[in-house]
This record gives sequence, C-alpha cells and structure tokens, in this order.
Amino acid sequence: MNETISGIAPSVTLAITSKAKAMAAAGQEVFSFAAGEPDFDTPDHIKAAAIQALRDGKTKYSPGTGLAELRAAIAADLATHNGLTYDPAQIVVSCGAKHTLFNIFMALLQPGDEVLIPSPFWLSYPEMVRIAGGQSVFVEASEHDGFKVTRASLEAAVTPQTRALILNSPSNPIGTVYEPAELEQIAAFACEHDITVVSDEIYQQMIYDGIESPSFASLGQEVYDRTVTVNGFSKAYSMTGWRLGYLAGPLPLVKAISALQSHSTSGPTTFAQYGAIAALEGGRDCVAAMRDAFAERRTYLYDRLQNMPQVSCVKPMGAFYMLPGIGAYGLDSLTFADKLLEATGVAVVPGKPFGADANIRLSYACSMENIREGMDRMEGFLKGL
Ligand SMILES: *Cc1c(COP(=O)(O)O)cnc(C)c1O
Repeated sequence: MNETISGIAPSVTLAITSKAKAMAAAGQEVFSFAAGEPDFDTPDHIKAAAIQALRDGKTKYSPGTGLAELRAAIAADLATHNGLTYDPAQIVVSCGAKHTLFNIFMALLQPGDEVLIPSPFWLSYPEMVRIAGGQSVFVEASEHDGFKVTRASLEAAVTPQTRALILNSPSNPIGTVYEPAELEQIAAFACEHDITVVSDEIYQQMIYDGIESPSFASLGQEVYDRTVTVNGFSKAYSMTGWRLGYLAGPLPLVKAISALQSHSTSGPTTFAQYGAIAALEGGRDCVAAMRDAFAERRTYLYDRLQNMPQVSCVKPMGAFYMLPGIGAYGLDSLTFADKLLEATGVAVVPGKPFGADANIRLSYACSMENIREGMDRMEGFLKGL
C-alpha cells in the first residue's frame, strides 16, 4: 500500500450523514443542515443543451483540456464578469473544481513545499496537498477577526519553503467574503514572497448584500501572473453531478496540467460540456433567483442562531454555510453533533475536519421549513444541555 494514500483521513462528516440517513430510513424525522450542494434542480435550458448534444451524437472524447467552444465561453465570461483577460489556451476544464484543484497541487508542488491554508478551511485542501507531496501550514483566523487572515498572520507563517497560498472567498465552511482592501494586503504579501495564489472562487456568484469582492487575479499584472483562478459550475448553476470545473492561469502550469489530465481522465465528459456552454451563455437570471433564496434563508438562520444563548456566529456574506461556535457548552464538535442528532434529529456537520472543533457547520441549502423546525429543535436541545 502507498503510505501517503493509506494515511488519508477518512471523512468524519460521512459518519454523521450516514447516521442521519439510517435514522431517516428507520422512519425518524430528520432535519438536515449537512448539504454541501444547492437544493435546486439544474435549470432547464442547461439540461436541454446536454440532451440535444447527446441527440447530436456528441458522445466521443473531448479535447483533453475541454471543448474549444466551452473554453472560449469561459474566457468571455471571465472577461465580462470578473475583469479578467485570459486566452482560451490558458484554460483547462476538468471533472469538477475539486479535480481542478487536485491537478493544480499535483503540478505545482515539489516534495516538502509548503502551502498556506487559512483555517478554518475546506476539508479537502490539506488532503490534496498531502497527496501531492506538499506540507500544509495552517494560518489561524479567529472568530474575532471574522475568520479572515491578515497580512500579519500570513507573514508569521511564511518560510523559504512556502510555495502557495489557498484563498477561498466566499468560503466553505464560513461564508467569509474578503473585501478589496483585504485582498490588496494579501496580494502584496504574495508578490513580496513570490508565492502562487490558488484562488478558489467557486462561490463567487453567491455574495450577499451587494458586497464587492473582485477576482483575486484582477488586482494587477503582478498578481495575475502568480494566480490560478479556480471556478466551476456546481454551485452557481446547481450542477454538482455534472462534474465540471475549470482553471485559468499561467501557461507553464496550464501545460503541465494538460499533460497530467491527458493521462488520467483524458478530459471532461463531452455532452456535459454543452450544458456548461448553455449555462454561461444563458444569462444569470437563474443564478440570481437561487442567490435570492439563499440570502433570505441566511438572514433567518443567522437571526435564529444569534438569539440562542452562548452560541456565537459570524454573519456569512457569501456561499451557503455558517459556522456557529458552540464551545461554551463544553462539548467537542463531534460529540455535540452526535448528541444533537440523537436527541432531535437535527443533522449538522462537526467543525473538527474544517479545523474548528468548537464550531459546527450549518448549510442553508435546504428549505425554509427545514430551517425553522430544525432551529426550534436545536434551541430546545441547548436548553437541556
Ligand atoms: C464544492 C466546492 C468545490 C468543488 O466543487 P466541484 O463540484 O468539484 O466543482 C471546491 N471548493 C469548495 C470550497 C467547495 O465548497
């Protein structure tokens, strides 16, 4: 067995979700806040385009880096909405943004290279870095600072081995959105230390209250040259099962990743990519409708949590997660989540695998009724603790 692979942490979150599923199957009422994907169906015009592609016989291998038409549509989309100029040759489409990130770390890292990861973090980052032979260095962001890292906290973590920094704004699991001035600070840091920034912008279209948060690579030429922009279709267009994500970045990295992908997946699924073209060309009204629904649920859920005794909560400004603090109750996150599920049927994800053992992650990619009833039950549970 390969020691790196056999050393990968199995997902602890899976344990709680499978228990929730078992309870539901046994006829118990379950109120889940565990979803990591939108609860909406993929919009019809996107499905129709993929169905048409199948009818038209688009069933053969795609070019390794994705259909030229799709890469052109991505380049146009990044130019229109993100102020980013990329040649389609700088774009690689992969089987989901997760696969994109995996390719990036495989191509970027040499053994012993360090990657700065703001913590709390999306739980797949450290595992990917480890598989690629790198070393994760967590940069703690405190609840007090709205869970944002600063130039000072990054400076304290940088070493001569630092190769890259992962930035995820809006973030999973917190919903943190970095504002322009904060991004400028991080950009200055990356340029000074010659660090590549992997900017995971998968939730970029889910920002609330009209907050402005530009794409990292748009902050200037020097920043653009050292940034890999990552995005995908899963979250914005509710296309998680389609498995399509992409990167745009410097040509040498793109070339290495193209070669790697040509020997692994060969390329993304051909007919699915026609759906993605329709997503980009069909306008953003469908995205806005989903975003408005998330925004309404966020406000309600945040209000409820704020009114619970000894629960702290940073107001999320994007994505569809919250990471309330439950440390005052004296239980670690796994025990808390397990007891809450057993006692009330409310399923939440423990914060531990995200680097936040005094917190739980609540996803509001679920119905208002689920949120209402779930919060009533959690409130009752806390009273009994
Ligand atoms: C969901 C998610 C992804 C990847 O999604 P794909 O379905 O693989 O495109 C990447 N980063 C974060 C932070 C996510 O939450």
